[in-house]
Amino acid sequence: MAIRNSKTNTNALPKVLAGAGAGLAAGFLLAGRNPWYTQSDTSRAIRVETDPISEIPEEADVVVIGGGISGISTALYLNEFGLKTVVFEKGSVANEASSRNFGWVYSNALAQELLPMAEQAKEHWFGFADRFGFDVTARRTGNFTLAPTEKELDQHREWLVMAQKAAPTIDAQVLNQAELEEKVPGVGKMFAGALYQPSDGMAEPSHAVPLIAKGARQEGVKIFERTAVRGFEYSGKAISKVVTEHGSIRTKKVVLAGGSWTSYFLNNLGINLPQQNIASSLLRFSGAKAGPGAAMGGDIFWRDELPGTVSIGTLQHIIPVEINSFKVLPAFAGSLKELLKDPLNVPLRISIGPDFINSLKRKRRWKNDEVTEFERVRMLTSRHIPAGHKKVFKALEEVFPDTKNAKVIERWGGSMDALPDSLPVLDQVDQVPGLYVNSGYAGEGFSVGPGGGHLMAEIVAGREPSIDPTPFRFSRFHDGSQLSI
Ligand SMILES: Cc1cc2nc3c(=O)[nH]c(=O)nc-3n(C[C@H](O)[C@H](O)[C@H](O)COP(=O)(O)OP(=O)(O)OC[C@H]3O[C@@H](n4cnc5c(N)ncnc54)[C@H](O)[C@@H]3O)c2cc1C
Repeated sequence: MAIRNSKTNTNALPKVLAGAGAGLAAGFLLAGRNPWYTQSDTSRAIRVETDPISEIPEEADVVVIGGGISGISTALYLNEFGLKTVVFEKGSVANEASSRNFGWVYSNALAQELLPMAEQAKEHWFGFADRFGFDVTARRTGNFTLAPTEKELDQHREWLVMAQKAAPTIDAQVLNQAELEEKVPGVGKMFAGALYQPSDGMAEPSHAVPLIAKGARQEGVKIFERTAVRGFEYSGKAISKVVTEHGSIRTKKVVLAGGSWTSYFLNNLGINLPQQNIASSLLRFSGAKAGPGAAMGGDIFWRDELPGTVSIGTLQHIIPVEINSFKVLPAFAGSLKELLKDPLNVPLRISIGPDFINSLKRKRRWKNDEVTEFERVRMLTSRHIPAGHKKVFKALEEVFPDTKNAKVIERWGGSMDALPDSLPVLDQVDQVPGLYVNSGYAGEGFSVGPGGGHLMAEIVAGREPSIDPTPFRFSRFHDGSQLSI
């Protein structure tokens, strides 16, 4: 789910992150009594069979840390490329962001650098059923990026010209008001038009990644749950073993796909990845219908879910300031500049309070024989953000009067791991030979995850990358590169 600025309908993530910077710089304080980030015991993800801990092998070609979409897809393709691959997940498969998202599988309105990966990911998503012989809930439904004004519709036209050059398979079209109204009666009265892409779609976050994990196991990947990775042992500077809470395993290659935990893990190795986590929330209702497929724009969100329910996104995201936020602030300086151009129009709240205190209590460094934070917090989630949904309901009721009868049946939160340019890192880590990172997808990782996993596997396996990995190199944060924000 792209974090959108509701007035301009542009991807507001850089602004959101810049907001953290502005808040910090101004010493802004907005402390609640409860932390936004919490440990949950209730997984949204369905359980699928995994491997018993007693069967952790002594050796693997590659160890993957993290059982979300990034880790599971990386393992799937590594195995396809002939590498014996083991996944360690500290909680259960997909119990963090990968089951707590909005379920969009799309390329509509994404940044240019992500488009080839997003298009490739759609092919993976919609091909899983044939590959595995069972449905993973992915389907092409057609998604709308709604444009409240003619100016934004023109921006969508510009995007389309750019996008078709970057990824020729893009089949998006710009709908004017009448065309939009014809496709979704009622919506035309609120919007100037939309960017519509028939080949975009969705998958159910509660089911999809566990089912891909099931398919990966069927093909030979080993997946161990409740197995936190604490660190590594080395031969010289290179990785020789991965140390888990249940013992160690020999390997020379490790892919870190730790989502919101990636920079915390790297910090223990003395490596700085400028990652800021953002709390967001969703809800689903029954008893009323919104439009077909999925849509976002202005104050409107909807996704038509497989069980006949509808989920909606939020107009407000929270940046819980932690000790790490101060460290990453310089990396977000460019975004900060952007914010100062339009400071009132940022869909975020900055919270400096209990999360900050909790982060001070958390160990910054640990040894391999110590119980770690990964074992203490098996399932990271965030509190629900009620204010972010009220306006969405109001707008939905104007367009679909029936939604007055909606009965909210579930509310949940989650954490997005964001980097300053809203692009992931898919690269090796020069300081630690054998270590690779696949992380930093912010609000787009569910969708592009299989494409990212495929690219990561190509890099690790030493194959020719099928898409250009340059925008995703780790060094861009440290070598003076101009980041695209
Ligand atoms: C509210 C919300 C809405 C979103 N909407 C969308 C959307 O519509 N479309 C979209 O494309 N994206 C969306 N996203 C983003 C998407 O969910 C994420 O980008 C994606 O799930 C990230 O996947 P991941 O595998 O990188 O991380 P995660 O799913 O967080 O997985 C990382 C895993 O690593 C494990 N781990 C971490 N450290 C260790 C360790 N030391 N040892 C063992 N295991 C470890 C964690 O337990 C976790 O399970 C949304 C996110 C949120 C929060």
